[in-house]
Amino acid sequence: MIRLSAGSAAALQLKTVKTDIQPTTVYLLQGTACRGACLFCPLGRRSSSRSRTYLGRITWPAYPRAALEKPLNQAEQQGLQRICLQSVAEETLERSLLPTLRWIKRLSSLPCSVSVRIETLHQAAELFRAGADRVNIALDAANPRLFARIKDKSFAETQALLFSCAERWPGKISTHLICGLRETEEELLQTGARILEKNITLGLFAFTPLSGTPLGSLPPPEEQQYRRIQAGLFLLRQEPALFLRFRFLQGRLTSFGLAPAQLRKRLSAGSAFQTSGCPGCNRPYYNERPGKTMYNYPRPLTAEEIARVLKILLENLAEGEMLHERKMAAPLGSTAGSRSEHE
Ligand code: SF4
Repeated sequence: MIRLSAGSAAALQLKTVKTDIQPTTVYLLQGTACRGACLFCPLGRRSSSRSRTYLGRITWPAYPRAALEKPLNQAEQQGLQRICLQSVAEETLERSLLPTLRWIKRLSSLPCSVSVRIETLHQAAELFRAGADRVNIALDAANPRLFARIKDKSFAETQALLFSCAERWPGKISTHLICGLRETEEELLQTGARILEKNITLGLFAFTPLSGTPLGSLPPPEEQQYRRIQAGLFLLRQEPALFLRFRFLQGRLTSFGLAPAQLRKRLSAGSAFQTSGCPGCNRPYYNERPGKTMYNYPRPLTAEEIARVLKILLENLAEGEMLHERKMAAPLGSTAGSRSEHE
């Protein structure tokens, strides 16, 4: 058996799902219980969730492999652009993931991203040899202290592996960051700038509290905060060095270092607010509830949506700039705010 996101099952015509947007990638998930310990994940060993059919906000029905062969074979003709194979860390690559990857590659010529917990360059090489188009090594948490607590692993080691893979396979490595794990905006954008400088593809997720997980009671990020991070990462994708012009007040972004007209012009197409990650990956409703905050738009934004999002973003920055000026005007020794390293 292998699991398929409910949206992917609908896109492959295996299931009827009422939705306003189809995924452009087929999302497959192998395994049900993970040796990993991520505090936000219902499949992790520190989760007490009885529902192991969820990952993110979506369900993953299981299918016999034989039932998926024809649909996967026809996925490209159905307009799908990529396959994303995710695996929980329950067995060795040789026993679990590599045979699945070879099976997928026999059925489809679509590029395949593989997202799995690996520890060595050799394991990444095996994934590429078996047909992976891209390998994803998820960082998730942007702050090393939080990373250790939330993922029970070493940030430095994971980041070192990510960077070594990016050097060895330029343009073929992806990672994920989650906004809303109590990192500061400065930490998230600084980690993002380092990742983008290394030509690593970065997918941004909004933290989604799921019941039964140790972080199930943490709220999701505020929309204003998420828009600042999306806009910041979008600008850094174009120009990673722009981070040196960003300004922060107590970790919160107050300025992108661009004049408002220039900022508006760069963001006016709205693509900054669409799902980011591997080419062709739109992840509809991974983080969103229909009718609630659309953190990652899985399609181009309408003119009204762009106007609304920019209004939220620019109003908020104006507020931040005012706070900043107030702090700069405060007498020396005042505790009104702390200076960021690069202010
Ligand atoms: S960005 Fe999308 S396709 Fe790439 S690894 Fe993440 S979920 Fe999969």
